[in-house]
Formats: sequence, structure tokens, C-alpha cells
Amino acid sequence: MNHNPFTTLAMTLCLGFGALTAGAKMRIESSIPADKHHAPSAAADGDRGTWFQSSRPPRAGEHLTLHLGAPQKLTSVRVLSGRPDGGGRFENALLELSSDGKTYSAAIPLERGEAEWHGDGEVVASIRVRALKEGTAGVAIREIAMDDSVLRSVGVTLSGEAPFGRLTAECNFAEVPGDYAVLMRDQLDETAAWFFNFYPKIVAMLEAPTQGLPRALKIRFRNDMQPGVPGYVSGQTMTLSIPHILRNPDDVRGLFIHELTHVVQGYGGPGERPGWLVEGLAEALRYKLSPADDPWRQAVDRIDPEKLDYHNAYRDTALFLSWVEAHNNPLLLAKLNRALKEGSYTEQTWSDLTGKNPDAWLHEYRIARGKLK
Ligand SMILES: [Zn+2]
Repeated sequence: MNHNPFTTLAMTLCLGFGALTAGAKMRIESSIPADKHHAPSAAADGDRGTWFQSSRPPRAGEHLTLHLGAPQKLTSVRVLSGRPDGGGRFENALLELSSDGKTYSAAIPLERGEAEWHGDGEVVASIRVRALKEGTAGVAIREIAMDDSVLRSVGVTLSGEAPFGRLTAECNFAEVPGDYAVLMRDQLDETAAWFFNFYPKIVAMLEAPTQGLPRALKIRFRNDMQPGVPGYVSGQTMTLSIPHILRNPDDVRGLFIHELTHVVQGYGGPGERPGWLVEGLAEALRYKLSPADDPWRQAVDRIDPEKLDYHNAYRDTALFLSWVEAHNNPLLLAKLNRALKEGSYTEQTWSDLTGKNPDAWLHEYRIARGKLK
């Protein structure tokens, strides 16, 4: 995970197959003393390779309790005890749930070190594993996992800081099939880091006014988008195609940059806004912000100058706009964006800003690339 230094993702709390919303501060308490290398938090870190280990056998009534912060509607809770080597199973213990964090009702005995509770969206504030009798050996709790319906119903909100204020990204998984929700949850930190990293850069590169700029992004994943449409933006909501993401993992970062540019553009009101230019700016930002080893960027660099068509709105336009800007037209993208934003863009804008129209620049480009004399 590449976390941006000014990013904090402390608000996601991933719990086995579940996750909590922002603001919900999960807390784990254990009256069973812990081995110093196996803290109680390892019992709820979503990782079955780590575990809580008691430093001595548990006594009757001692427990490890997970307080969820904000109560959640759950459909299942599973507790898995014992180390990977098979030792340390918790026997003579109960899995108990509480809706208020004080009184515990549902109680399921652990059998062979495991217990599973199923419900119908009951409100749960706390989950605990409690010893019924004095044990004979130390115990290990691998994971307390919640059903992914939590993730699917509440989503996840991540937050970070930009020079112009606090950013949040709220992800909605309601339409994501179960297994994929878990998969995407795993990718979320990276995706959110892209948002906190790239968004301020796009704003800076386009010199976009920060007043009125969306700071709370909503990301929705859809399973039923038309083939060939990987994503779109409406206001501050970015919608991404689940099949596209799953089939083209290499494309996700670039798609994200493209769609984030549309959020920054936020055009509205009267004015002429040619589609090739609106899309082309998003692609040019993608081109400039993608690392050199990005396969999409490498494909752009291989475009045949003779075949380049800047009206194509995608890769060709990305290359064209970046090239013109790099040839004595500093901040061209920002200036074009401003004209589009203000609604003042006309055919004349190119000549006003660069002294030439796009066709003349295309001619220039081909000469420079040795394809014309
Ligand atoms: Zn677009």
C-alpha cells in the first residue's frame, strides 16, 4: 500500500468480512491477559494469519470483547479460535452478542473452538467470547468475523487531507456481489490513496478554483453498465463498472484519474463545450499523472503520428493536448479548462491562447515527429 504522507485512513475498520463506517471507533477489551506478541487487536484485524494469544489459561467469566462503536445490523458473526498449528482452541466458552454493549443475549457455545451466529439484521453493539470454566491451557482467538452484508449495507467512508481541505470518499457496495465486495474492500485503501493523492494534483494542474470544488466523493459500483462504459461522473458521484474493474485491473488507476478530472471539471451552465476537448482534458491528465510503466500510457506513446486524430477524444487527444502544452504553451490545459468552465470557449479560443488552431497544431506535430516536411 502506498499511502500518501498527508493521508489518514484510520477511519476504516475492517473486521473479518465486515467493515464499519467512519466515526465508528471499534474498541477491543480483554480481561484475559495477552501474550506480548499476540495483542487482542489481532482477533479483529481481518487477517486469519494473526491471533490473540492469552498468556495463561482463561479463568471462568474472563472474556475478550469487541465494541463496534456504532451499533451495526448484522446477519452473521463467526468466531474462530486456535492457532494455525491446531493448538490453543478455546473450549468451554460462549459467543455472546449485545445490542447495547451492556446486556448480552444470544449465546452460542464454541464447539471445537468455533461458533457461528446467524440473524436477520439484528442490531449488535458488542460481541464477546467468554470463558465458562477455568481453562487448562492458553487460548488463541484467530478472528471474530462479521458477514459482508455489513459492508454492503453501510459502505465504507475514508478520509484524507488536501491543501484545500478535508476530503472524504464514501464507497457504496450495495450492488456488488458478495465475494467481490470482499475483494474490492481489500483494494479500498489503495483506491482511496489514489483519490487523496491525485485529486489535489488535478486541481493544481488545471488551476481549478477550490471554491465550490467537491470535497466529498461518492463512489458507487454498478454491475449492470453497458459494455464499453467503464465509468461516469455526475456531480460528486463517480460510478464505476464492476465487470470492467474485475477484468481490467491495470486500467483502474487511470480510469480513476480520468473520472476524478470530470469531478474537478464540474462544468455546467451555458457555453460551448466540445466533447472531444472535455474528454481529452480528462485523458491528458491521465497521461500526465500515470507512471511511465503504465500500459495505457505506453500505448499512447506508440500512437502513429500520421494516424493521430485529436477529435478522437481519448488517447489521441491526450497525446495531442500534452504535446501542444509542452511546446511553448505552458498551462494550456488549465487555460482551456477555465474557458470551458466559464462557458467562454469558442473556436477562436485556441488561436487566442496559442496563436494557432488545432489543425495547424496537428500539422506542426506531424512535422516535429518527422512525418511531414
Ligand atoms: Zn470521460
